[in-house]
Amino acid sequence: MNQKIAGQVSREDLARICPTISRRTHPEFGEGSGFEVEVAGVRFGTGAPVVIAGPCAVETERQMIEVALSVKAAGADMLRGGAFKPRTSPHDFQGLGLEGLKILRAASDLTGLPVVTEVLDVRLVELVSQYADMLQIGSRSMQNYPLLVEAGRSGKPVLLKRGMAASLCEWLGAAEYLANEGNLNIVLCERGIKTHTAGEYSRYALDLNVVPAVHAETFLPVIVDPSHATGVASRVELASRAAIEFGSDGLLIEVSTWDRDPEAQRPLCDADQAITPETLARIVEFVRQRETAELYSSDPAMLLGSEH
Ligand code: PEP
Ligand code: MN
Repeated sequence: MNQKIAGQVSREDLARICPTISRRTHPEFGEGSGFEVEVAGVRFGTGAPVVIAGPCAVETERQMIEVALSVKAAGADMLRGGAFKPRTSPHDFQGLGLEGLKILRAASDLTGLPVVTEVLDVRLVELVSQYADMLQIGSRSMQNYPLLVEAGRSGKPVLLKRGMAASLCEWLGAAEYLANEGNLNIVLCERGIKTHTAGEYSRYALDLNVVPAVHAETFLPVIVDPSHATGVASRVELASRAAIEFGSDGLLIEVSTWDRDPEAQRPLCDADQAITPETLARIVEFVRQRETAELYSSDPAMLLGSEH
């Protein structure tokens, strides 16, 4: 007898839970093609991965501007940085708030790189939307449904991180909340999940298997955050390359320059996983080389020149 276990989710159930973003209900997206999300001129889902980089948190104007300039020089496409930080302890640095948003806007305007930042609170969606080019919904907020509804209504592109214990179905269900408000400008982000080994040798477990699974179920782009997933700077480059090999549409990476600024302090947030701009430059180079290789392999005539 073909009996279903309570709570078990089939592919048909998935399409019923998230019909607006499901590939099954949108045959206009053929295999290998998807919806392109545009963020102030940067496009996700084109086949050319997008690299987003910056500090975990905005701590000072000097720090943010320095990191932004170095990230730009390394070839990144977009900036990141938290003005409102979800911290385990209320006694830890919570972010600069509005001041942080203003610094982010200034860093974005200076470099010409669009900026993504987290919105933690449903009451702040409007404010964050005034300063950011893209709203980030963090892992801890993925199932904050009122926040998803409000972010969807803002009309801003949204970076939806996977809840650290979320199934694919729950994650796509969260994206459906955004899409249900008429906002299809959604980029999904795998950032590591909690397993029984979490914290033993890595911060979380980077679930690269989910990247092709997301592509199979939805036409939305999906990127990978190797920084929070590993929690260790020395593994970020390798994890980034692996993510690209798995078909990721981009990367979200934490970068710091504090060790070269005599006036800077060690980052208050996620210092161990922040990479240097030099490592970021190597990652960007890898991403661009892969892009070119794919272009040539999809059209061998390009190798021969235009007259052939
Ligand atoms: C972040 O990217 O700043 C962050 C807090 O990540 P996550 O929500 O994945 O923990
Ligand atoms: Mn962080």
